[in-house]
Amino acid sequence: MSSRIRRCPHDRRYTLSDLCPVCGRPSRPAHPARFSPEDRYGRYRRAVRRWNTPE
Ligand SMILES: [Zn+2]
Repeated sequence: MSSRIRRCPHDRRYTLSDLCPVCGRPSRPAHPARFSPEDRYGRYRRAVRRWNTPE
């Protein structure tokens, strides 16, 4: 599952652990929800609809 992939914000190392294996600091999810492709396409569809709608 890609949702299990995490990344250390300090040295940008990908890991599956909650702690970075390199520096021992807490890692963060590599794919935050706000960057999901689903949301990106949703914004694109809304933009196209707005442009094509005659005012
Ligand atoms: Zn680290």
